[in-house]
Amino acid sequence: MKRSRKIILSEKEMPRQWYNILADMPNKPLPPLHPATRQPIGPEDLAAVFPMELIKQEVSAERYIDIPDEVVDLYRTYRPSPVYRAEYLEKAIGTKSKIYYKYEGGNYSGSHKANTAIAQAYYNKKEGVRRITTETGAGQWGSAMSFACNHFGLELLVFMVKVSYNHKPGRKLLMNAYNARVVPSPSMMTAAGRKILEEDPESPGSLGIAISEAMEVALQDPYTKYSLGSVLNHVILHQTIIGQEALIQMEKAGDYPDVVIGCFGGGSNFSGIAFPFLRERLLNGKNIRLLTVEPASCPKLTKGKFLYDFGDTAGMTPLLPMYTLGHNFIPEKIHAGGLRYHGAGVLVSQLLKDGFIEAKAKMQRECFEAGVLFARTEGILPAPESTYAIAGALDEARKADLEGVSKTILFNLSGHGHFDISAYEKYFEGNLPDHELTDAEVEEALSKINLPVA
Ligand SMILES: *Cc1c(COP(=O)(O)O)cnc(C)c1O
Repeated sequence: MKRSRKIILSEKEMPRQWYNILADMPNKPLPPLHPATRQPIGPEDLAAVFPMELIKQEVSAERYIDIPDEVVDLYRTYRPSPVYRAEYLEKAIGTKSKIYYKYEGGNYSGSHKANTAIAQAYYNKKEGVRRITTETGAGQWGSAMSFACNHFGLELLVFMVKVSYNHKPGRKLLMNAYNARVVPSPSMMTAAGRKILEEDPESPGSLGIAISEAMEVALQDPYTKYSLGSVLNHVILHQTIIGQEALIQMEKAGDYPDVVIGCFGGGSNFSGIAFPFLRERLLNGKNIRLLTVEPASCPKLTKGKFLYDFGDTAGMTPLLPMYTLGHNFIPEKIHAGGLRYHGAGVLVSQLLKDGFIEAKAKMQRECFEAGVLFARTEGILPAPESTYAIAGALDEARKADLEGVSKTILFNLSGHGHFDISAYEKYFEGNLPDHELTDAEVEEALSKINLPVA
């Protein structure tokens, strides 16, 4: 019998726990530091911006955390998500390797971001919060949060990076449809935004600036909290539902990946699929490589430094020990807006430093080329961000073919690109410039920050 190319799980088989990699890391990450005192922070320092349950998850050392029933109920509207064997893609490139992908675009938000948006909205609601502020780059996080907040009866104010706000009216309208208010960032609403606009009225904005704006508003009102779509430990925890499912699906397929791949913005979709497989390596000695792919124009993992740095531009977040290009760095306006972030999650950063993860950087034209090939063979138009993972998977398949071996490759298709059609238009017109940050530019960006070395 021919094996199915779509590997599905029933609702009953959906894992009911998230996985916390912190429990199994050989070297635990350094503590976050208070932005003013530079001393390690405690849970109470975060209480003004996050609900207590999420703070507990942020610092938890428990290996497994139960997914609340209300979150499971919403997960069940789109989870378990399918894993596909990319047979048509394999055939198109003539590889002897097997390529699988986990598709996280098949939900209301069109990306993996729904997995944490639902959980974050739920915990905020449970603790009496009325309004949430957040940032969004390309708009996937804002859309994910808009529906989740509306479902749980919370208001949402989104600061959307201006370049995306102008390029992607569709995402803004989707957020409006889900009942959220969307403001282009930098804005005149906050001191952080006004300061940037004074220096550069034409600022395209960045995730770092939008985070400063959203945090500033949240700090002014006890019933308003702030929410972040990537980077933080609790966000990555929620995303592990991806890898928890994928492990079972690969077993059903009768296969086990040699390499797991994800694109990298702040680390949440990559960590989400990779960490449960890393657990199998750390606890059960299963051999596996984990590879993440970032843009050459925003190469914090491959060219940045491991330092204590702020998560935002204004310096309001705790100092985090992470790979960074410096919190003042404003990345080129590439079309994978969700990957335009200067820093990286603490967990991934420590694991990269310790050699458990590999990272590589790619330019956008090659990634769009891979994305178009994927659309034409597999039938899903990938989000620009996800094309970096596809390009990484193609590299692995081609490398194996050159070596005359067959590998099993699993990548995370983090979202679809239906709202990114104008980026594809630019690609078809030959109007998509490649850009690579040079070592000198990295040095310059990092010289502008003066922070303790991790
Ligand atoms: C936000 C986003 C990313 C990048 O963020 P991570 O936290 O690194 O996953 C990647 N792909 C899609 C589709 C996104 O929306």
